[in-house]
Amino acid sequence: MTETLKDSYGRAIRDLRVSVTDRCNFRCFYCLPHGEPPAGPKDSMLTYEEIEFAVSVFVSLGVEKVRLTGGEPMLRRDIETLVSKLSRVEGIKDLALTTNAFNLAERAAGLKAAGLDRVTVSLDSLRPESFRRMTGVDVLPQVLEGIRAARRVGLVPVKVNAVIVRGHNEDEVADMAAFAREHDLSMRFIEYMPLDSGHGWSREQVVSGAEIRAAINERFLLVARRTERGSETATRYRFADGPRGEIGIIAPVTEPFCGACSRIRLTADGQIRTCLFSKVEHSLRDVIRSGATRDEAADYIRSVVEKKEPRHYINETYFEQPARTMSLIGG
Ligand code: SAM
Repeated sequence: MTETLKDSYGRAIRDLRVSVTDRCNFRCFYCLPHGEPPAGPKDSMLTYEEIEFAVSVFVSLGVEKVRLTGGEPMLRRDIETLVSKLSRVEGIKDLALTTNAFNLAERAAGLKAAGLDRVTVSLDSLRPESFRRMTGVDVLPQVLEGIRAARRVGLVPVKVNAVIVRGHNEDEVADMAAFAREHDLSMRFIEYMPLDSGHGWSREQVVSGAEIRAAINERFLLVARRTERGSETATRYRFADGPRGEIGIIAPVTEPFCGACSRIRLTADGQIRTCLFSKVEHSLRDVIRSGATRDEAADYIRSVVEKKEPRHYINETYFEQPARTMSLIGG
């Protein structure tokens, strides 16, 4: 029987995000505005075998959901090979991948065949010019085609993430809700968090979950999906007038949900992060490379999880951004 990995506040850890690369081909201004930091040495990155080993130990401890992310996970060579290895790890109930969808149209079928359950696609604007300004690349049609391909091959439900930033795309929220209805997607609106490499985040730029909800409700009446959201990041809504499409609002800044956090992260270079905003990391890579057995790796993971922070401190005057940014942590 699998155990339930719990932190010292009694939160069960069910959800593992694995970053497979630090590299990214987009330059989203809220993430990597000045390009990539110098790449770490190649041998500091976990191999697919090491990732598979780590994931299988996490799963034996109670993790049920695994999400591959980055950087841009599709930039890691043959990511399908890793997907295929992980799809055979017994106990994973949900194997997902977060991508900017740059080349998803060509690779969706292969990912599905390799055993991926679903994808989350980042899409911050439906207007080509605003998309280009926000992401630094002019590829909106490819991303839309990627979303269509994901649906076609059954990588469903397709979730679409949009980071809403004042002065950029807050006037598009209701249009994106319409897009979710039209294409039967789960559209998730995310508050801008202080995790950008440019350290340009300001509270004034945060469009709150409440504002987002109000903007959608002006056009489409939303109904909360359930009162208890458990450990999910998003508060979920359906449209009052029909079954197609869903809205999720992720409001870590104005409506923190740390009390129900079930997440843990593994960076591409094998560091465990117990919170997006952690100041310390724990090298599972060193443990694995020292020749640890499964039991020893499990003991190490348990000891790290014990140290999971009670909450983030974004809203405190003493808050400081972590040194590593979203693209290095794995969103
Ligand atoms: N490259 C992939 C992608 O574009 O989805 C996966 C990695 S990306 C870092 C994961 C998610 O983090 C994306 O949906 C992105 O929009 C989000 N993200 C990055 N920086 C953020 C920030 N400062 N605040 C909120 N979300 C952010």
